[in-house]
Amino acid sequence: MTKRKTKSRRRVHPATVILGILILAIIVAAALFLLQKPVVVLTDHTRFPVGEKVSLTSLVKEVKYGQLLNEEETFESVKASTRVVTFRIKTRLGKVVEETLTLEFYDNVPPVIAGGKDLSLTVGETLDLLEGITATDNSGERLAVSVQGEYDLKKAGEYKLSYFTADSAGNTATFPFTLTVMATPFDENGKMVDGVYKTSKGFELVIEDGIAKVDGYLIANKSYSLPKDYNTTRSVDENTMTAFRAMQQAAAKAGHTVTIKSASRNWNDQNYIFNGYVARDGLQEALTYSARPGHSEHQSGLAMDVLTSDSEEAKEPKFAAALAWLSEHAHEYGFILRYPEGKTDETGYIYESWHFRYVGKELAEKLYNNGDWITMEDYFGIDSKYRGYDE
Ligand SMILES: [Zn+2]
Repeated sequence: MTKRKTKSRRRVHPATVILGILILAIIVAAALFLLQKPVVVLTDHTRFPVGEKVSLTSLVKEVKYGQLLNEEETFESVKASTRVVTFRIKTRLGKVVEETLTLEFYDNVPPVIAGGKDLSLTVGETLDLLEGITATDNSGERLAVSVQGEYDLKKAGEYKLSYFTADSAGNTATFPFTLTVMATPFDENGKMVDGVYKTSKGFELVIEDGIAKVDGYLIANKSYSLPKDYNTTRSVDENTMTAFRAMQQAAAKAGHTVTIKSASRNWNDQNYIFNGYVARDGLQEALTYSARPGHSEHQSGLAMDVLTSDSEEAKEPKFAAALAWLSEHAHEYGFILRYPEGKTDETGYIYESWHFRYVGKELAEKLYNNGDWITMEDYFGIDSKYRGYDE
């Protein structure tokens, strides 16, 4: 019995050996399986523009022998920056190991230039081209703006320029604009110089033989005078008189008597009148309501004072009603109220409810502006101020 036992201990049954090897192999295989280190294959694509949303999973090509834990994560940046992304992987034994990848967010967003627009000025005026111009960038950095192109404020011309800026990432922005330097129609003594010019509103101003016309309309105001020998005969323009007659008849139908108080005056007439006012009220006062000789619209033969030429008299009922009717209807006949109330800064004159100027129906309709009169100065972009006088 003992012998057999000993014998059986020495001689292992082959099936047991195979089983043992099998079990050992399974144990080894299981160990190998469980101890297998995770393998993470990451992308080569690690540069992204700012603002782009990058998901963590998009950075992973493959995960072997483990499980990615933070696959919901996303990354983005509004500024140029680098960012270390950590991948957390659970091994088969339940351990968590980490892999990292550095992302680079690059700035490809150009700056934005604001406040730019076409500019115009007259020779002799100064202008800061950079005033009101700002540049902003997604980086938040302070950006300097420069003007590109050549120009000369002392020389009339149209200059094609642009604002330029660049951010630290090298993104650039340009804003093209036109700088118009207009020739001035006045010399250094304030005398009108014959030539063709542009007004600040873009209308053509032609001065020929000392007579200024904007868009074809004769201008006589404090800036633009008429020559001393213009209309010495005090004639009234034919179209103006025809239009006045029509207006007069219409006013009569509406119950208003409309008569001409003063129409055409020549240079000498105006000289006499103006000096009379200066003697009576002093120069400064006289300048507010009376024109220097050569600057009166009455010399043009296109203007007339209706019923009165006196502020107080104009308020009397017998005139006020007729003048109010004219203010509402004169444009229908081609006349404008030349010196509207509250427009002294533009016309250079106080409100004159009686002074009407013939311009034709088309322009009159525009300037009437549904009762809110626009001045010729405002509409055409011209001024009315004396130049070259000592005062
Ligand atoms: Zn007048």
